[in-house]
Amino acid sequence: MWPVLHFCSFTKKTHPNLTHPMKLSYRILLVLTVLMSTIFEAHAEKQTFYPKKDSWIGTRINKSTRGDDDFIKIGGSGDRFYALIQFETPSVPGTITSARLELEPHPNSFPYIMSGVATGGTVYASSTSWRENGTSVTDLRYYSYWSESFSAPRSASRTITVDVTDIVSLWTSSSEGDRIKNNGFVIRPDLNFNTYSYFYSREWGRSRGPKLVVTYKIGKDFGRPFTGSQATITRGPGKAPSHKNNNYYSVDFGLSEGRRIVAAESGYVVRVENNVPPGPQNSGAKAAGNFVKIDHDGDKDQSTGYQTSYQHLQKGSVKVSEKQWVNKGDLIGYSGNTGNVDPPAPNGHHLHFEVRYKNKGAGQEKYLEGVTIDGKLILDLKTGLSF
Ligand SMILES: [Zn+2]
Repeated sequence: MWPVLHFCSFTKKTHPNLTHPMKLSYRILLVLTVLMSTIFEAHAEKQTFYPKKDSWIGTRINKSTRGDDDFIKIGGSGDRFYALIQFETPSVPGTITSARLELEPHPNSFPYIMSGVATGGTVYASSTSWRENGTSVTDLRYYSYWSESFSAPRSASRTITVDVTDIVSLWTSSSEGDRIKNNGFVIRPDLNFNTYSYFYSREWGRSRGPKLVVTYKIGKDFGRPFTGSQATITRGPGKAPSHKNNNYYSVDFGLSEGRRIVAAESGYVVRVENNVPPGPQNSGAKAAGNFVKIDHDGDKDQSTGYQTSYQHLQKGSVKVSEKQWVNKGDLIGYSGNTGNVDPPAPNGHHLHFEVRYKNKGAGQEKYLEGVTIDGKLILDLKTGLSF
């Protein structure tokens, strides 16, 4: 009799971004854990998000027909209630290490318990968008994988915490093929026979309403921006005259012309120059020569998140266009001798690879000092090093 919900799969999908070092021996795991916590402690941060909308719907009763917005609920008695919550997609300067959904039980749960318990539930990622008012159960679809369960609230004062790391990681995945759209969470009740759990909704404000608490590691791990044999670093980060201020976190890799230049991380191409002729252009708008710039937080907006640029490329060699998505390791162009290569050709050939945060270098040290390239801290990539 119940409307049938759409289940994509009942198996938990294995996911490359969620690979866990389970296969390592316990000893190695222990050493790694100690090592990682030492390294990353200084760069771990926590951010709390609050809902932009929340709601509940019933299989027979639609919330909008009740006009009651003070709580969200799951459970039922003949009818069945689902809770819906949507937060902004977290935009964090680094890699998400955990995400948890926090719900505070509303006292209304408890007078209604006829079978002795409030109901627990399972949190899913919604696969369709929904309206705060007027969404019906038949409109609702959700992924049944990446779900996490929680047990019934025992008291109104105890916060329910649900691990939603898998779901939030997929909203923010830097691989377009793995990413799922953030349509919010669906909370499905375990039981619906005279059992109800009510939770404070966002109408109760930030202290009582639902929260999404995200912890992340500041910094970003990039791959090598070129393929083939190693290159000598001809100018490291912070080195005068050109690697200063907004260009501080730049590395020049001495490369002959025609080497394959690849995306150091997935993202959207936001700027391309492909028509600068060879030869030194020591200042002005053409100083970067032909170049590609990629934005890495999925929003094509350079005022948020990390960006990388790849400069002095061969005229006409750029393989990508603006607004195009590229995956890590994709060919974007070939090394060349355009713009301000110092000293001029033939000895000055290099790839200028630059990392920025919010399109800035200086002033963003907190987010850029922890950046790595091929596992090495960018600040350790000194002039003269073979890489
Ligand atoms: Zn440079």
